[in-house]
Amino acid sequence: MTRLARSLDRLQPHYDVVVVGSGYGGGVAASRLARAGKRVAVLERGREFVTGEFPARFPDLRADVQLTGKRMRLGSPTGLYDVRFGEDMHVLVGCGLGGGSLINAGVALRPDPRVFHDDVWPQVIQDGLLDEGYARAARWVRPAHDPAAERRTKFQALRNASAALGRDPVKAPVVVSFEATINPAGVAQPACTHCGDCCGGCNVGAKNTVALTYLPDAARHGAEIFTHVTVRRVAKRPEGGWHIHFERHDRPSPHGAETSGRLTADMVVLAAGTLGSTEILLRSREHGLALSDRLGQRFSANGDIIAFGYGAKTPINAIGVGHPPKLDGLDVGACVTGQIEIVDESDLARSLTIQEGVLPSALAPMLPALFIPNGRLLGALQSLIAGVYKGPFASLQTFFAVSHDSASGRLALEDDRLALSWPGAKDEPVYARLDAALEALVQRAGGSYVKNPLAGTMMGHQPATAHPLGGCGMGRERGDGVVSHKCQAFDAGAGSTDVHEGLYVIDGSIMPRSLGVNPLLTITALAERAMLHLARDRAFVFDDAPRRYATPIAVAAPGA
Ligand SMILES: Cc1cc2nc3c(=O)[nH]c(=O)nc-3n(C[C@H](O)[C@H](O)[C@H](O)COP(=O)(O)OP(=O)(O)OC[C@H]3O[C@@H](n4cnc5c(N)ncnc54)[C@H](O)[C@@H]3O)c2cc1C
Ligand code: SF4
Repeated sequence: MTRLARSLDRLQPHYDVVVVGSGYGGGVAASRLARAGKRVAVLERGREFVTGEFPARFPDLRADVQLTGKRMRLGSPTGLYDVRFGEDMHVLVGCGLGGGSLINAGVALRPDPRVFHDDVWPQVIQDGLLDEGYARAARWVRPAHDPAAERRTKFQALRNASAALGRDPVKAPVVVSFEATINPAGVAQPACTHCGDCCGGCNVGAKNTVALTYLPDAARHGAEIFTHVTVRRVAKRPEGGWHIHFERHDRPSPHGAETSGRLTADMVVLAAGTLGSTEILLRSREHGLALSDRLGQRFSANGDIIAFGYGAKTPINAIGVGHPPKLDGLDVGACVTGQIEIVDESDLARSLTIQEGVLPSALAPMLPALFIPNGRLLGALQSLIAGVYKGPFASLQTFFAVSHDSASGRLALEDDRLALSWPGAKDEPVYARLDAALEALVQRAGGSYVKNPLAGTMMGHQPATAHPLGGCGMGRERGDGVVSHKCQAFDAGAGSTDVHEGLYVIDGSIMPRSLGVNPLLTITALAERAMLHLARDRAFVFDDAPRRYATPIAVAAPGA
């Protein structure tokens, strides 16, 4: 695909709308506002990855990891895998044009209706536009079931072990094109090759990422897209509209420092993800912007864990082969094909979903070192003999599990750096429940449960999440939320329900609680809903109809 991003030298001093970040929330906002005829700029801190450019080998993957801790910072600020080490919890998020959609497993689920009945939401959230938001989201990210899911060995293994939990697995809906298609943005996507590398980045172009859906649609409607630019804070202009202060990473200054700059916009949509948007608002508040005291609160990990089973008695084949395939004849399947859903009718918090997952092929050389004492030696031998695909790692099980937590984490700025505190996070009851369920499954498969193979490293024993939510949670008024049900930031300098004109937050940070299912569909749906409200309030006109162009945009896969 031709690149969407343009050189930062072409950034204009003023736009109707600046969208900060390019994940689900940012993609929806950019597409809908560009369709409404607004002059839109998207500012994304990461790089653009054209299909075929995702890291396929371990050295490439390692070069694309950025690590940030309280007193350390390693890797490029545009590294695709952004790992934040916390004293109480670690967080993994995506960094690149398309955000987390580039490296996620693509599972798209709607939460249990009881989630939205929780008083923590403004009750008006349940207007008809919520359903319309989900309908639009589904039309654009297109969740589908792998037609051959039940033939995959990893699905069969989940079914064989599922008696341990008394529930049969079902097919999981994933945002993958299982047949070649021209998508609603007019992009021609090839069919999934079942290579399993979804979490490493799809080098086929079959995963329906934001980079292949909402962003090309925004660009076709005139949005200007920029990468390598980190927004630091926003400030109100006395004459109306917003200043957006940023740093650029495309060309460091001669002294090694990043170059900073500023532009203006009538409207700002913060869509930098749970960590990014909360950080920008915290810093903006330090510079005088009046925001709710709730800012940074109610951080949730969505009761999410990744865990492993080592030594199952049957082959699982849950290590991706990538594209072009590193091994012929192994039909792995998309990252997730099946899941066990446990719904507790009397206590929502005890409901959970367990999905079988796949590790990306670029991680394969690391596995012996992670799972086996003296694994480095074994890894060297195996790579000489049969590679990880035929040794003990052919029966490695990877699980993603999602449930509910108490959303008691708190994000704050310490020395101008975002810090997460959640004393007692590891004692949240959800983790013991998930461990018990996963251990039962793994034992049934004849293996041993490996909760955290990195526990002996700098990762320690803290829980980790890839589903950070909250920090700018929705509320009825500024006393209980940071944004309104329309995603407008409350103005703490005015009446309790007054909002800042033209300041929106639209991403995972607006969730006031855990969702209990993978969040991408809900983030997308709430973004679509916010755009529908914005259109009503400002008489903007747009539709979400698919576009057909004389020449569909081709997904190029160099090396494929
Ligand atoms: C390995 C993995 C697997 C996952 N699997 C699933 C799954 O199967 N299903 C599911 O529903 N969810 C999954 N998730 C989670 C899901 O991808 C995220 O919840 C989702 O991407 C969040 O969307 P968002 O719009 O909130 O922001 P993001 O997708 O996080 O996008 C935010 C963007 O803003 C950019 N940004 C941040 N700060 C700034 C700044 N200051 N200036 C400019 N740009 C900035 C970031 O680089 C990023 O591109 C997974 C996540 C990971 C990491
Ligand atoms: S399994 Fe492979 S081809 Fe299919 S969506 Fe995932 S990465 Fe892309």
